[in-house]
Amino acid sequence: MSDPALDIVHQAVQALQLRGDTARASASTLARLAATAGTKPAAPAPKPVEIRRPAPVEIPKPTPEPPRNAPTYAPLPARPSGTGKAAQLAALSGPVLACAKCPNLVASRSQVIFGVGNPDAEIMFVGEAPGADEDMVGEPFVGKAGQLLTKIIETMGLRRADTYRATVVKCRPLEKPTPGEVAACTPYLIQQVKIIQPRIIVALGGAAVASLLGERAPRGQWREFQGIPVMPTLLLDDLIRDPDPYAKRPLWEDMLAILERLGKPITEKQRGFFLAK
Ligand code: SF4
Repeated sequence: MSDPALDIVHQAVQALQLRGDTARASASTLARLAATAGTKPAAPAPKPVEIRRPAPVEIPKPTPEPPRNAPTYAPLPARPSGTGKAAQLAALSGPVLACAKCPNLVASRSQVIFGVGNPDAEIMFVGEAPGADEDMVGEPFVGKAGQLLTKIIETMGLRRADTYRATVVKCRPLEKPTPGEVAACTPYLIQQVKIIQPRIIVALGGAAVASLLGERAPRGQWREFQGIPVMPTLLLDDLIRDPDPYAKRPLWEDMLAILERLGKPITEKQRGFFLAK
């Protein structure tokens, strides 16, 4: 506190106190202060500080990441060529067409519905059991369910003739097939799968899923049967009965997942089917 101006003020105040006066500055004191302030050399102006801009730092571009929800799958298993598959299926069909393991179904059926399609199909559709239409025609997935399946296959950009179609239970039940009937017929389906060796199996409905996997599985989540990817999805008959046009969307999402897994191109139009507008 060696400021001369402050020293003068201090001394002046002390003098006022010694005189018993109040600490009010007189005009002369103020004049002295003013004189002192005037003699004080002005503080040098601070030198301007040179602000140097840092050299621009090059920020590396981030490496693009794959889409967050992009699924990654193991490569599809190699499979044998179609040579001999038709003959093997024909050989298997003999005992199946003559099968009488389920007395109730033998009584309710007109014929055994073995399965039909391309023996070398990439995609095999598996349903639960034949209905009245299938029993009459002798082929799985005809009638309304068959029309819906054809529409789905063609919307995927495929042809119905390129697929193979079969049911777990091969004789028409009047009600739902019993667990015993499902168990009796499932070995035939397994033999069909082993011959065809499809790249993907689509299991339509809980019975088809349970027969192949031995347990129920939520739709849309990949499973495997003997190394072959299985897509559990909805029962076509349930979708036919549902008046909501968007009820088919979950099944369609499963079909999109199949196309992705097969490495087939998907258009924006295909991605937008059955979405609420
Ligand atoms: S449902 Fe299958 S196991 Fe039963 S009688 Fe028909 S073919 Fe045979």
